[in-house]
Amino acid sequence: MHDVTLAILCGGQSRRLGTDKGLYAPLGDEALVTRALRLLGAPFKEILVVVRSSEQRKIYQKFFLQHGATAGRQIRLVHDELENHATVLPQAALTGINTALLAATMPQVLAVPVDQLGVRLLHLNRMLEGSRQMPLANCVTFATETGDPVPFPSLWRAVSQPQVEARLKGGALSVKGTLREMTSHVIGPSTNDHFDQELSYNANTVEEMLSYFGTPLLDSRQRRLHYLRFSLTEACNMACTYCLPDGFPEWYRHKARLTLPQIKVLLEGFRRLGFRKVRFTGGEPTIHPDCLESVRIARRLGFEKIAITTNGLLMDDLNQWLEAGLTHLNVSLDSLDPEVFKQITQSSQLAKVTTVIEQGLALGLSVKINTVLMKSINGSEQSILKLIEWALKRPLTLRFIELMDTRLNASFASSERVLGSTIEPLLRQIGLAPTNKSGKTVDTDGPAVDFHSSEYPGTIGLINPMSGNFCNKCNRLRVTAKGHLKLCLFGDNDAPLDHSSPDAVALNVRQLIGTKPERHYLDAGNFGNVATFRTIGG
Ligand code: SAM
Repeated sequence: MHDVTLAILCGGQSRRLGTDKGLYAPLGDEALVTRALRLLGAPFKEILVVVRSSEQRKIYQKFFLQHGATAGRQIRLVHDELENHATVLPQAALTGINTALLAATMPQVLAVPVDQLGVRLLHLNRMLEGSRQMPLANCVTFATETGDPVPFPSLWRAVSQPQVEARLKGGALSVKGTLREMTSHVIGPSTNDHFDQELSYNANTVEEMLSYFGTPLLDSRQRRLHYLRFSLTEACNMACTYCLPDGFPEWYRHKARLTLPQIKVLLEGFRRLGFRKVRFTGGEPTIHPDCLESVRIARRLGFEKIAITTNGLLMDDLNQWLEAGLTHLNVSLDSLDPEVFKQITQSSQLAKVTTVIEQGLALGLSVKINTVLMKSINGSEQSILKLIEWALKRPLTLRFIELMDTRLNASFASSERVLGSTIEPLLRQIGLAPTNKSGKTVDTDGPAVDFHSSEYPGTIGLINPMSGNFCNKCNRLRVTAKGHLKLCLFGDNDAPLDHSSPDAVALNVRQLIGTKPERHYLDAGNFGNVATFRTIGG
């Protein structure tokens, strides 16, 4: 965690929006302040939400009480009408910075306005990293190519507060001007193109919000869909017993591969439908030559969670994935025993997989492990406990996924499946309890039931699609490696999508959404047209 105070500035008047900006929920389900805390709050020791008046503070207090704050952390709400101000300071973003500098208990304050929608941890980390390599300065900022300081995000030393207040009292309200006047250090634009554009995007009107977030997509059962699972390729470099026992034919690898322009149009189309999360999957997504670039594109388009489900074998340099915009890493790992790992995957590279996991954790990525158990291979109590013990020591989530029936493995799956209900008593025996009932923040986007204990950094999740059914909470759509829309994982049909333009994609999805089934019937032995998960990635 950084010894830095993160200050989310919410004090703007929001005149053009006509309603308080921080509390505005552009997609109907999450206020901008909650979003900013979710996206940016995790690595900071202290978080301040800065509002302009005691009146506005009361409203925010009530909001946080009703909706719960945030990043699982305590948030301090401060306002600009500070008692120790001899004179009333003008209403301006610089006043918010001054308030934060006065209230902060950390030596530095990182200020981000709630409406600067493109700011991600990636940017903040780069700023902190850059500032560490420089001599002490009053403030640190990014610069445009012409050398102009970008007002936000900006990093301020708490001791520079009197200077900021003096400027305010002298009538100087500009953040940019203050950054120029005070000894400030400037970090040049990164090698990532679009860096400045992302940083500077402010939304002030409903139209600007819509153009950034898209128009939410609801199906006929009022389920809001905002999570895209995008299969980049059907090819895989492993040959898992339960998925692709005969491996993937080399000659077929280059077929059924979407081109980068097609991937871009599809991603952009889904952004217009208010999709905020994308998971790249496969086959093995990293086999696609444009997988990394697809992550970059997703980031530029404003996806907030960019995840990958991978076996990890081709992810040598995780830094470049992080820099591209990856936020969530799911690695499939069914055993920690090299022999058993080889028996399941036909690969001898277990060490490579565990290295990728450790790297992901070291870089601060959100890491999850997918484990599928088979009774006669990796399903003994001993192997399960070994995996649990390993996972609990690390700040990651290991999820046991029940082996699902597909056309090619149905009889194998039903004889080998280990149900979540057999794992649950083991979890309770070692003192773990379901965390989503006890108030700890859990990933509400997913169908897992998480088990946790304050003794351990790790979490164990159970995903029980065979014995349970979480279709009523479904928030996802899938695109296959052929560019077809899959409305339900175990549905009977895939619909080819018109991907001539992002608008065409969005329109086509809206036309098809009415036929999204209410639920799957896996429990009744109906696995739709899924022959094996390599075609769709789960
Ligand atoms: N190649 C990537 C990987 O290894 O994670 C992504 C694709 S893989 C098909 C996605 C996930 O589906 C893996 O975690 C795998 O274990 C899981 N999977 C494959 N077949 C399954 C099945 N029949 N039931 C449950 N999970 C399955």
